[in-house]
Amino acid sequence: IFENNIFHTTSKIHVSFEFFPPKLNTIKNSSFFYAIKKLSTLKPDFISITCTSRNESYNHTYKTVLEIQKKINIKIVPHMIYSNTTTEKIKRIANKYWHHGINSIVALRGDYINKPNNSSLKYASNLVILLKQIANFDIFVAAYPEVHPEAYNAQSDLIYLKNKIDLGANLAITQFFFEVEHYLRFRDRCAAIGIHVDIIPGILPIIDFQQLKKFASMTNVYIPKWIHTMFEGINSNDQNISKMIGLSISINIIQQLCKEGVRHFHFYTLNQYDITYTLCHMLGLRKYNNL
Ligand code: FAD
Repeated sequence: IFENNIFHTTSKIHVSFEFFPPKLNTIKNSSFFYAIKKLSTLKPDFISITCTSRNESYNHTYKTVLEIQKKINIKIVPHMIYSNTTTEKIKRIANKYWHHGINSIVALRGDYINKPNNSSLKYASNLVILLKQIANFDIFVAAYPEVHPEAYNAQSDLIYLKNKIDLGANLAITQFFFEVEHYLRFRDRCAAIGIHVDIIPGILPIIDFQQLKKFASMTNVYIPKWIHTMFEGINSNDQNISKMIGLSISINIIQQLCKEGVRHFHFYTLNQYDITYTLCHMLGLRKYNNL
């Protein structure tokens, strides 16, 4: 076997990267652009830009997307969420995206700041329908190998994912996970229920373990004992050491996924390029010379 990288894959690897919008007043000269530029040399399939339910987040994401579009030749996929916003606002922004040549959207429900009062828009599936009515967007949706925290149960969560796909979503990106078996079983269950789009694994390189533990408990993500052991005795100030441990954990996960035939990885970059760039390099991706 020709081994062109440490993960022993010979077929083409696809990657994509998630970023969150930086503060608007720092956007022009931020390290954010440096990170995107650096990672864009690896020719990702796309980068995605998050959006929150906070006021003005839509505009913030929109302005960030346009700023990137001006500077970097790369496919940009904005996230859109409808919780805490109105149908009119979604229509307005979606039309503007389409007008600017942005034809893919990550369609999400988002988390509620207030309880929803608009009963017709309750789930991401409603947003998928709405976006498809506005224009022929490619739509990406979220999937949860370890089950969304508010789901009735794993089966219902899967059925609702299938619903989003049946309504026109083109692919799903997963919540991050650390137990590869959970992803693999989930992928099998998706296939068994008739979901035939890509279920792209979301890879979160760990940077700050204490922060991760909080986030993982909120999002129902299981952290295996071996990962806790790896971080024993390391505190949040030891960022470089944490990053190196995080890198080795991601390598372990990607290695297992590669063996199972995964060829597209979506990285939650947290706006930092170094670990993600290293992982992509180890996957065989090279600047200007994509394998
Ligand atoms: P949905 O698909 O609507 O699912 C939400 C819950 O409702 C699930 O429990 C599901 O089982 C249930 N459900 C769905 N349909 C029905 C139905 N018809 N009847 C009853 N129950 C139903 N959040 C942000 O704020 N900003 C972001 O940019 C962002 N990006 C993300 C990117 C990815 C790849 C992922 C995985 C998550 C992201 N999130 C983001 C988090 C996401 O918004 C939350 O997880 C949110 O709670 C659910 O969003 P969803 O799109 O999965 O919702």
